[in-house]
Amino acid sequence: MKELILTIDDAPSPLFSDVLDYLVGKGICAIIFVRGDFVAGHEQELADAIKKGFIIGNHSYSHPHFDKLSAKAAREEIVRADKIVDDIYRLSGRERGLKYFRFPYGVGGTPETEGANQNVLAELGYSAPRFASRRDWYWDIPLLYDWQTDATVLVVHDKEPNVRLGLFQYIIEEAEKQRFSFCDRNELYKKLL
Ligand SMILES: [Zn+2]
Repeated sequence: MKELILTIDDAPSPLFSDVLDYLVGKGICAIIFVRGDFVAGHEQELADAIKKGFIIGNHSYSHPHFDKLSAKAAREEIVRADKIVDDIYRLSGRERGLKYFRFPYGVGGTPETEGANQNVLAELGYSAPRFASRRDWYWDIPLLYDWQTDATVLVVHDKEPNVRLGLFQYIIEEAEKQRFSFCDRNELYKKLL
């Protein structure tokens, strides 16, 4: 039985509360990467998720292709969403101990801006996960494309049709059928710390 860390991208969708109920019902915890521009109206749900042991990560403000952005615009995307995540933690009353960032589309910048973008993340105190077995960017958690590899991270997307049509749930249940188990809140923190 291999343990997977579940990560959720592009949250929160309009069905985010269903996603949360589903995962809590199964005892699965996750790192939730939010788009800053999707957060309005979902602040309390996200704060409640933190209290249930979920970690909120930064997935930029408006999900741009970072290879199309100047270093200055990239900084703004990262910092703006970072403040929004800070606000969610403040609302939850919990400390924001672990900071993770995932670049949209897995693209960390151009050859010219990539280093500067990593420096912004370092400045803001983002951590490189120790458990990553595949890593494209220092501060990013890798995507798990192949469940048979040694990678320990699975990414699923909080998209309204995926959740409504059951694809989100199907991926998780298929992974469980293939003898993977997902971290609960204690295991998640143990793996990350
Ligand atoms: Zn995304």
